Amino acid sequence: MPDNCVTILNSVTRFLDRQHGLYINGQWQASQAEQRLAVYNPADGQQISSTADANAADVALAVSSAHQAFTAGVWAQRLPAERERILLRYADLLEQHCEELAQLETLEQGKSINISRAFEVGCTLNWMRYTAGLTTKITGQTLDVSIPMPPGARYQVYTRKEPIGVVAGIVPWNFPLLIGMRKVMPALAAGCSIVIKPSETTPLTLLRMAELASEAGVPPGVFNVVTGRGAVCGKALTEHPLIAKVSFTGSTPVGKGIARAAADRLTRVTLELGGKNPAIVLQDADLQQVIEGLMAGSFLNQGQVCAASSRIYIEAPIYDRLVAGFEQAVKSLSVGPGMDGSTQINPLVSLAHRNKVAAYLDDARNKRAELISGSAGPDAQGFYIPPTLVINPDDSLNLAREEVFGPVVNLIRVADAEEALRKANDTDYGLTASLWTTSLQAAMAYTPRIQAGTVWVNTHTLIDANMPFGGFKQSGSGRDFGPDWLDAYTESKSVCIRY
Ligand code: NAD
Repeated sequence: MPDNCVTILNSVTRFLDRQHGLYINGQWQASQAEQRLAVYNPADGQQISSTADANAADVALAVSSAHQAFTAGVWAQRLPAERERILLRYADLLEQHCEELAQLETLEQGKSINISRAFEVGCTLNWMRYTAGLTTKITGQTLDVSIPMPPGARYQVYTRKEPIGVVAGIVPWNFPLLIGMRKVMPALAAGCSIVIKPSETTPLTLLRMAELASEAGVPPGVFNVVTGRGAVCGKALTEHPLIAKVSFTGSTPVGKGIARAAADRLTRVTLELGGKNPAIVLQDADLQQVIEGLMAGSFLNQGQVCAASSRIYIEAPIYDRLVAGFEQAVKSLSVGPGMDGSTQINPLVSLAHRNKVAAYLDDARNKRAELISGSAGPDAQGFYIPPTLVINPDDSLNLAREEVFGPVVNLIRVADAEEALRKANDTDYGLTASLWTTSLQAAMAYTPRIQAGTVWVNTHTLIDANMPFGGFKQSGSGRDFGPDWLDAYTESKSVCIRY
């Protein structure tokens, strides 16, 4: 590790050195598959740990354990206040181990230790406490009805929200702890059992969280973790007949495959998928605010954020000034390992993903696009890509329409707001967007015309536990977060009583 890097805790070193198994029925179990999956540090390409490569038999065991726990009612039938207390204790345990979890995340994922502390751990804590609170607020309705027979009979209807059953959670690699816990917590708050599969690239933090769940008092079988490849372990999990609901966050192609398989058994599915998110900058915007907001919106976590701004449409009168401002900002970014908290751009998650992003930039160079890049990063074996602006890209470039998921952002000159809106909406995606203006009239007029699940004004990438989030079009289906979040983890039952 270079000199400026934080000192790795002994507990982190011990965790990395473990022979990780699968967390099933409240204990570690060896996988039935012999092969193991290596975990790498993106900052230097070195292997730091390994995890089990679970097969279908392992997954069946985990689902069966979750199903038994669910049908036995060991969690679902606890008083809501008891579940809430345990989930709050679970959040306290994460807080006690916050530095350990933050370091593990930076070591396996590559992001800055500051982002791991603030987002992976800090935001996860907020989400955990918010969701724990929902446990005691699950409500139905009482309904007066007008059933006419037999004459004179009276009826009262009420609805109950009941836990849906065993949930399969499938997690991507960009925010492994945060996104993972955004599946675990609503499932547990609703009274479900869950089997969760982290990305094969970043499996470590959810394995640690499984142990902490047991320590908090979550009964055996209620929270299980299987690690393995998507095409084997993920497929076996999402297609298992005892799975009542799949909560998937990941790429659009994989999400579509999961939805197709789920259609066979009408398994409930929530899909949080990819994005190619526009930002529209009107000429009356505060340019300093735009540069600060969209630098963060585009380069947070090296642009490996589903909600990241990746196409910035700028009205012509301010275009040159803004491009100059972005150029200065990009060239001033320091690039280095995530464990060095003074760096702002860190390696991408894996060699394969680095090569994918590099291929987009090669395609752009081959087609003579104008690129402005910042520092290329340290001369190490890490998976670095320099932060890059693409100036007025032609539509023939692969990066013009596809999700790059890296530190690359397109700056596009438009004549006016109408052209910006047309181009912003001309995409299969519809996850997020932002509008930058000091005019209240413009904000109120244009936000309804932007096709995205979340539209920000004068900010980008702000996501809150109490703010529903999800995609229009091919960015997903269903909404996470907010007061109605648990609806997706419950079934509504109408009870009709004659009296
Ligand atoms: P991915 O789709 O390749 O993998 C996501 C998860 O699915 C991994 O755990 C993987 O092992 C698993 N998987 C792969 N094939 C599977 C299969 N056939 N059956 C079941 N599971 C399978 O995505 P990724 O590369 O890990 O993550 C990046 C993508 O995630 C980007 O497209 C990004 O936009 C998206 N994302 C979306 C959101 C959101 O909230 N909308 C949030 C974060 C990331």
